[in-house]
Amino acid sequence: METKVLNGKVVAKALEENIKKRADNFYDNYGYRPLLATIIVGHNPASEMYVKMKMNACKRVGLESIKIEIDENAKTEDVLEVINKLNADSKVTGILLQHPIAKHMDEGLCFDAIVLEKDVDGVNTASFGKMTMKGEAFLSATPAAIMEIIDFYNIDIEGKHAVVVGRSPILGKPVSMLLLNKNATVTICHSKTKDLDEYLKTADIVVAAVGKPNFIKGDSLKDGVVIIDAGYNKGNIGDVDINTCLDKASAYTPVPGGVGPVTIAKLLDQTMTAAENKKGKKLIKK
Ligand code: NAP
Repeated sequence: METKVLNGKVVAKALEENIKKRADNFYDNYGYRPLLATIIVGHNPASEMYVKMKMNACKRVGLESIKIEIDENAKTEDVLEVINKLNADSKVTGILLQHPIAKHMDEGLCFDAIVLEKDVDGVNTASFGKMTMKGEAFLSATPAAIMEIIDFYNIDIEGKHAVVVGRSPILGKPVSMLLLNKNATVTICHSKTKDLDEYLKTADIVVAAVGKPNFIKGDSLKDGVVIIDAGYNKGNIGDVDINTCLDKASAYTPVPGGVGPVTIAKLLDQTMTAAENKKGKKLIKK
C-alpha cells in the first residue's frame, strides 16, 4: 500500500499565501496592518522558540506583532492586568498567551480573560463552547490545523472511527469536538483508558496528542489507518513511532513538518479574520 505524506509545510504555504493577500488588501483599504500581541511568561526555551517562529511568520505574511514578557515570579493578577490592557487597546487585533505559563499561575483564568473577538488562539472556554455547538468562535489553533490538513488532502472522515489519544483543553478535547462536528465517530482516550490498543485497533483515523515520544506503535493499528501526529517532543520526535506504522498507514503527518507549521498558519489566519471581522465582514469560520 502506498503511504501518503500529509505535508504540513505545503498546507501552511497555501494558507500563508492567502493571508498575505488579505493582509496587503487590508492595508490598502485601511492603512494599517492587523497586530498580534503575544504574552510570554518566564524563559522556557521551547516557548521562546515558538514565539519567535510565530513572530517571524507574522512578518512573512504582512501582519504586525509585539511581544510582552512577564517575569516567571509574577502573579496571575499581573498577567490578567496585561490581558485587560490588550483587550482594551484598539490597535491590538489578536492576543496569544503562550502556553504554558508559570505553574503557580491560573492559566485557565488568564485564557478566559481574553475577549472572544481577540481570542485568535482559541483558548477561551467560551470559544470552546461556541466551537462545540457550531457557533461563531475562533478555533483552538492546533485542532484547527489538524482539520485544515484533513480538508486540504480531502480525507473522508464522515462515519469513520477517529480515536483521539489525549484530552487536553488545547488539543485532545477540541479536536475531538471538531471531528465529531464533521460526522466522525469519535473515541477519546487518556491516561486512565483501559486497553488503549483495543480502541486503536478499530481506528480509521488516529490523532496522537499524548506528549510521549514514539508512544503509538504500528502493531496497535489496523491497515489503511490515517495517522495525525500532533505530538512534538524533544529532539523533533512525534507521539507516533512512524517507522513501525509505515506498512499500516494510508497517510500520515510527519514530525517535524506536519501539524506544527499549520498551527502557526492557523493562528495568523484567525488574526487576519479578527481584523476583517472588526471591519464588519462575516464573523469567524465554523
Ligand atoms: P498534555 O496537556 O500533557 O496532555 C496529554 C494528554 O495525553 C492527556 O490528556 C493525558 O491523559 C494523555 N495521556 C498521557 N499518558 C497517556 C497514556 N499512557 N495513554 C493515553 N493517554 C495518555 O499535552 P498537550 O498540550 O495536549 O500536548 C500533547 C502533545 O502535542 C505534546 O507532544 C505537545 O508538544 C504537542 N503539541 C503540539 C502542538 C503543535 O502545534 N504541533 C501544539 C500543542 C501541543 P490525562 O488527561 O488522563 O492526563
